[in-house]
This record gives sequence, C-alpha cells and structure tokens, in this order.
Amino acid sequence: MADTIFGKILRGEVPSKRLHEDDRCIVIADIHPQAPFHALVIPRKAIASLADAQREDEALLGHCLLVAHAVAAAGGIGDAFRVVTNSGVGAGQTVPHLHFHVLGGRPLRGGMG
Ligand code: AMP
Repeated sequence: MADTIFGKILRGEVPSKRLHEDDRCIVIADIHPQAPFHALVIPRKAIASLADAQREDEALLGHCLLVAHAVAAAGGIGDAFRVVTNSGVGAGQTVPHLHFHVLGGRPLRGGMG
C-alpha cells in the first residue's frame, strides 16, 4: 500500500493533535473540521479502505468503533455523534488509509448525502 499522510502522522513525521493512542489505533483532530468536534480514528495497520479490510481485521474494526465512542464521550458529545468512513474515491475518500470520522457538537441532520 502506498504511503499516505496518515502513515507519516503515525510515524511522527508530521505533527498532529492526538486525542488518543493505543497499540491498535490513534485518534487525531481533523485539520479541516466539519463540526465543532471532528476526530479521525486511524488504525495503525495500513488498510487502504473498509473495502480492503479482511476477516482477520474484524476485531480491529470493532476496536476502532469502540474508540470512536470513547473519544466522543471524552469530548463531551457521547450522546449525539456520527461515525463515517468513506470507502473509495467515488465516496469522497481522499486519504487511502482506513479512517473513521467522528463528528458532533452541533445538530447533525439525518440523511446520508
Ligand atoms: P477522507 O476524505 O474521508 O479520506 O478524509 C480525510 C480527512 O483527513 C479529511 O477530513 C482531511 O481534512 C483530513 N486530513 C488530511 N490531512 C490531515 C492532517 N495532516 N491532519 C489531520 N487531518 C487531516
């Protein structure tokens, strides 16, 4: 898999505001926030997108979702937040390293685009 900005962030080569880190993922503040709270859960494993995840990644994916809730709760938005992953350029993915957006802090309308 090609290196990405998230690979550089994971290796500490590019600075980021880290909200959480553990042995399987990091969470950073999005550089162009779309809501008052906008974090990115990024697995350390370089999986290009959700479409590239394998059965062996099942526990990692579940971990990322639980971390998404944990950082939302820590950020004071645990009661109302949205988790999104864009898979593929046609879905708006711009960084080909799997990540989950965690958004909240303002009313989020229903509908998925
Ligand atoms: P996506 O378009 O779903 O691939 O999301 C990529 C996200 O990464 C966008 O919301 C960008 O604002 C964010 N992003 C890109 N570069 C950085 C960076 N250096 N630090 C934090 N967030 C970034």
